[in-house]
Amino acid sequence: MAWERDVVLKSDHELEIMQAAGRINAMALEAVHEAIRPGVTTQELDAIAEQVIRDNGAKPAFLNYPGPYPYPGTINASINEEMVHGIPSKREVREGDIISIDCGTIYEGFVADSAFTTGVGEVSAEKQKLMDVTKRSLELGIEKMCPGNRIGDVASTVQRYVEGQGFFVPREYTGHGVGRKLHEGPQLPNYGMPGRGMVLRKGMTIAIEPMVLVGTFRTKVLPDKWTVTAADDSMTAHFEHSVAITDNGPLILTVNRKD
Ligand code: MG
Ligand code: MG
Repeated sequence: MAWERDVVLKSDHELEIMQAAGRINAMALEAVHEAIRPGVTTQELDAIAEQVIRDNGAKPAFLNYPGPYPYPGTINASINEEMVHGIPSKREVREGDIISIDCGTIYEGFVADSAFTTGVGEVSAEKQKLMDVTKRSLELGIEKMCPGNRIGDVASTVQRYVEGQGFFVPREYTGHGVGRKLHEGPQLPNYGMPGRGMVLRKGMTIAIEPMVLVGTFRTKVLPDKWTVTAADDSMTAHFEHSVAITDNGPLILTVNRKD
């Protein structure tokens, strides 16, 4: 399918630009993270992200992104059973919620894409475990993103760890190549078989994004046509980094390096 034809290897210079995009995206996510507290609305969080992105000479990557209708925000704000693509609104987050913030930035023509999930105030032990497992699955997946490994080596690492902890990964929503476009090849599912799929090569840039559900691998889309939730309305979490495959191993692009 198109995913496989749509793999674009990046030069070292292009990776530097993608790191700059990733740094701005990380700054936006950090600012949102600091603002998350009971009573804040997801629209307010969206405005904070957009401000940081534009103040740094960049543009939001998600705003007006094509879909059932142009995406109306800078971030996805997905609360509790909402897994991805929650639309910012006047909804206030509440003590005990978990909220996933996904954000994309375009800088000098290149896209950075990253997400985190965090608790609002005190959260239950199960919600905390869900977030910890999802974040750890991201770290374990990234460790496999080395030249010569295959997509299935990364995907199966995420799946085995998550399912070993008693949780589920969705089938319809995956990671993806990222570069001049938000979504390019290769596709990176959160499930798969070791030794299968495309071989990872130096210069590939891929957004790896484990999504984890407590009760089912099945999902549904809300009537707003964007928001994806667990089919059984169980809790979900989501973490994501954009990562470059280099001769030195995985290079996480979506971090805020101070140097
Ligand atoms: Mg994302
Ligand atoms: Mg993504």
